[in-house]
Amino acid sequence: MAINWTDAQIEEVVATVIKSLGAASETGSWDATQYHGRKLIGIFEDMNDAIDAATAGYKAIRAMSLEEREKVIGAIRDLCRKEAAAMAELGVAETKMGRVEHKTAKHILVADKTPGTADIVAQVKTGDYGLTLTEMAPFGVVGSITPSTNPSETVLCNSIGMVAAGNGVVFNPHPNAIATSNYAVDLVNRASASAGGPKVLVASVVKPTLDTAQIMYQHPAIRLLVCTGGPGVVKSVLSSGKKAIGAGAGNPPVIVDDTADVRKAGKDIIDGCSFDNNLPCIAEKEVFAFRNIADELIDSMLHSGAYMITHEQADALAKIVLVESKNPKTGIVKKIVSRECVGRDAKVLLAKIGVTVGDEVRCIICETEFEHPFVQNELMMPILPIVRVNDIDEAIDLAVKAEHGCRHTAHMHSKNIDHLTRFARAVETTIFVKNAPSYAGIGFGGEGHTTFTIAGPTGEGLTSARSFTRYRRCVMSDSFRII
Ligand code: NAD
Repeated sequence: MAINWTDAQIEEVVATVIKSLGAASETGSWDATQYHGRKLIGIFEDMNDAIDAATAGYKAIRAMSLEEREKVIGAIRDLCRKEAAAMAELGVAETKMGRVEHKTAKHILVADKTPGTADIVAQVKTGDYGLTLTEMAPFGVVGSITPSTNPSETVLCNSIGMVAAGNGVVFNPHPNAIATSNYAVDLVNRASASAGGPKVLVASVVKPTLDTAQIMYQHPAIRLLVCTGGPGVVKSVLSSGKKAIGAGAGNPPVIVDDTADVRKAGKDIIDGCSFDNNLPCIAEKEVFAFRNIADELIDSMLHSGAYMITHEQADALAKIVLVESKNPKTGIVKKIVSRECVGRDAKVLLAKIGVTVGDEVRCIICETEFEHPFVQNELMMPILPIVRVNDIDEAIDLAVKAEHGCRHTAHMHSKNIDHLTRFARAVETTIFVKNAPSYAGIGFGGEGHTTFTIAGPTGEGLTSARSFTRYRRCVMSDSFRII
């Protein structure tokens, strides 16, 4: 029998879970310094102290051999697998976003498929004048800003890559996910100590704010900034005057044409769109379906855990999930996603418009016009608008417009090579997934490494250890050739 929760009941259950996890203070707010009474390692009141600790971590890592560094990374992977479910539960309880089973899978993916030191490769050039060696060197201490949507996943994935490259790391995590993010910082430090590394390898702060971010931007020890988040924060790091990697927002469109395996496409799209309640930035956000297969596609989606709402219901839901926000500087009023709705279960969102469904519903679908706010906004919740199109020209034109030039991720279900090629060329995204759920693009059921920092704006793409390095050249004149 399905249980219909009211918002008050959900709040009560969350409060009980928070209390049982032992990460909340007496006042019920999240305590980012301890977990079940155990003090977290590497968490500082002052950002300057956190940077000093990360600098000491960097010096310790530099003194270690590659083999020793890889041992530390192996220990991070092991603990990440072991504590994947605990971090997933903590993340959902703290942020009230996402799904425990999917967050667990994301942590295991990070442990299994984030590249380590093998990603760092030297290049050699030999010729008449001798030998030139180019090596990928660490920057030093990296300042990393992480999101609320994949909090511990991003801290762990970035830590593995940045440490593999030989860097120290200091985090300024999202305040709404601070307990979960700092748990991951502590995990890295516990793993490091257990494998002969420094006790504090990476660091974070108790209360991250825009001010602590500014300290990070300006501190001379921070040589590289890596920002994973929305457009505002990416702009801020790119204006910092330091070398920065920006991993920003997307609004991934999906095209389904009439050569696709339509039933598989329907299931794949719902699987991808509903994964962790649509929090991943790569997840399917709007569909453009050829008119002649749209009914079958919708039928397949309905058999795969989707629930269809009417135009009127979609408009009512749009008024709830998108709220007006006034820019205090310019006075311009803009629609933004309601933080109360991001990453929530489909049944919780449906309840807001008076529709009662059970846990079997994973995703809300609706037919809309191209101009509908569900198509135009990156919702990050399991709501999927479907727009019928007449042909490939219209599909590509609208899908490219809906992606808003983020050049982040796009998807297509088709067996027509020309259609696939045309869309890929037109949309110019960092990730383009063909005939699979979106998460195949980050190595989950697809080939290739994983990352939770996809740097489109600054061009590193799917970041890995080598993205966090600087090239250094050493020239040996007239010697060292063996031919
Ligand atoms: P957000 O933009 O609200 O916050 C991200 C981080 O930036 C947080 O730590 C926040 O405290 C900080 N921040 C925000 N404004 C800042 C400023 N002016 N100066 C310094 N720090 C600032 O992001 P979120 O809601 O947690 O995550 C969702 C967004 O991030 C979506 O747009 C999503 O697409 C994007 N995202 C992108 C990637 C990627 O790899 N490209 C990965 C995850 C999330």
